[in-house]
Amino acid sequence: MTAEGDRRALAGIRREPPRFRVVSVRTVRTLTPRMVRVTLGGEQLAGLEVDEPAASVRLLLPSPGEDLLIPTWNGNEFLLADGRRPLIRTFTPLNLDPERLEIDLDVVRHDGGAASSWADTAQPGDQAALSGPGRGYAVDAGAAAFLLAGDETALPAIGQLIAAIPEPIPVHVIVEIRHANAKLELPSHPVLAVEWVELIPGDPPGAALVSAIADAAIPAGAKVWVAGEAAAMQRIRRHLSADRGLPRSDLTVRGYWKHGR
Ligand SMILES: Cc1cc2nc3c(=O)[nH]c(=O)nc-3n(C[C@H](O)[C@H](O)[C@H](O)COP(=O)(O)OP(=O)(O)OC[C@H]3O[C@@H](n4cnc5c(N)ncnc54)[C@H](O)[C@@H]3O)c2cc1C
Repeated sequence: MTAEGDRRALAGIRREPPRFRVVSVRTVRTLTPRMVRVTLGGEQLAGLEVDEPAASVRLLLPSPGEDLLIPTWNGNEFLLADGRRPLIRTFTPLNLDPERLEIDLDVVRHDGGAASSWADTAQPGDQAALSGPGRGYAVDAGAAAFLLAGDETALPAIGQLIAAIPEPIPVHVIVEIRHANAKLELPSHPVLAVEWVELIPGDPPGAALVSAIADAAIPAGAKVWVAGEAAAMQRIRRHLSADRGLPRSDLTVRGYWKHGR
């Protein structure tokens, strides 16, 4: 750690994330009954660079019934001027177009989600802001194979990862969906096997993914990338490292959301 890093750690200060860039909704398109694509654009996207697949951005939304307010960083979190916590969620930046200054976010429709209902009702001209990018995934061109797995929130990242994996490395994709109508077309790849597994109603999120991964053949030298509900990710991480003995360096397992939070 650098001297500056040491000082921040001792003071309990977290590095300030990149500034928020104000954008507005350009278009909203239904990709499937479970996924909405919101295209955001604006001058402030100039200079934004997203170099890796499966990166992230923070999406700042106006609180319901209010105009967009830009929060400030207090050394640990973003807060609004009156001390309230702003509405901020994380998404996968897609199709950044530096000429049109536009970017897409594919948002899963689910019950009771602030960002999900925002995406459902967003209108051209509505304001939001983006901060980022957060780290993505460095694809290892020397890997023997890839297993990419996740729930519907991971679909945007999985699509980017498939497109970034060099031919002819074999790619096995496992996606847990809530309903068959969540299936969408993934980028093509010469050696691609896609498994869609449906969550049984009443089962905890990630249950179908956990068992599909337990049943999957993982070739020696394969890299594994998985993202989805946090508790399911813990089970999957444990299975892959403790039961299968896969080296940590071959595994990337990311909690994308927390059931009930
Ligand atoms: C690096 C990263 C990248 C991500 N990329 C994407 C992306 O591209 N697209 C995307 O849709 N999501 C993505 N997510 C997940 C997204 O941030 C969460 O799902 C987020 O909670 C959605 O916010 P919300 O306001 O709709 O729901 P919240 O207000 O956060 O949650 C409300 C309730 O809904 C539940 N909930 C949250 N998400 C889901 C879900 N997907 N299905 C069912 N219940 C849910 C919560 O447990 C809670 O009970 C990503 C997360 C990370 C960390």
